[in-house]
Amino acid sequence: MNRSSVTGRFAPSPTGPLHLGSLVAAVGSWLFARREGGRWLVRMEDLDTPRVIPGSADEILGALRRYGLEWDGEVDYQSTRTALYEDALATLRARGLAYDCACSRAELQRAASAPLGAEPVYPGFCRAGLPPGRTPRAVRFRAPEGAIVFDDRVHGRIEEDVAARTGDFVIKRADGLFAYQLAVVVDDAEQDVTQVVRGGDLLTSTARQIALQRALSLPTPSYAHLPLVTNPDGSKLGKRDGALPLPTLDDDRVRATLVQALRILGYEDAESLEEALREK
Ligand code: GLU
Repeated sequence: MNRSSVTGRFAPSPTGPLHLGSLVAAVGSWLFARREGGRWLVRMEDLDTPRVIPGSADEILGALRRYGLEWDGEVDYQSTRTALYEDALATLRARGLAYDCACSRAELQRAASAPLGAEPVYPGFCRAGLPPGRTPRAVRFRAPEGAIVFDDRVHGRIEEDVAARTGDFVIKRADGLFAYQLAVVVDDAEQDVTQVVRGGDLLTSTARQIALQRALSLPTPSYAHLPLVTNPDGSKLGKRDGALPLPTLDDDRVRATLVQALRILGYEDAESLEEALREK
């Protein structure tokens, strides 16, 4: 039996309970994968340990079950996969595409004309080697020149010049943790993910991820970035807004919240996941 070769995934960060924004990403990625008869994986992005909240991974998994979002295989935890990220870093170093950087955040803010708080374009101070007497802090990826072009399945054609927009970006942080951008690329490839469906806030990360895939000779999956969930006044949903604390959810609330997520995704009449699968 030749099953579909489509593999989708949902990759929550266990930094709090599932909220409406992450439920939309979960439902959206589930529907994209299942609609094509594909597999759907769950990966816990628990790499940023200072931000991880104990118990929240299990809470998220419980919530997914509650919404009827069954996943395939075992849940992978990024915190157990450091050796894979080390290998990727070694490959990038061997190819001359990663280098040590001594710059502190304060130094970069001072050097940048960007408004305070915005992520400044890296000015390349350590690009040609560490200045004498400086100690390495982070590791950066050498951003390729020129635009990265990809077709997003929701937003259409996207062009982004990583070198101009972010410059060489951090792949291993000063605290020794691997950065999200590297880990996500390594994991999506290692898990044979063919379609990435996730929140619209990550659209601006995609070009960086494609640049890393190319540098590591990894395939590029298809991308779909879902509508951002906002507060009724249009402001961005914060960590606590729209949180869906599971124990308080009765069956009616679960159904109503699922329908809300389906409406945000553009399923106008579906009252359940099964109906949504049939609708489109
Ligand atoms: N862990 C990320 C988040 O929760 C999502 C990463 C991804 O889907 O690529 O925002």
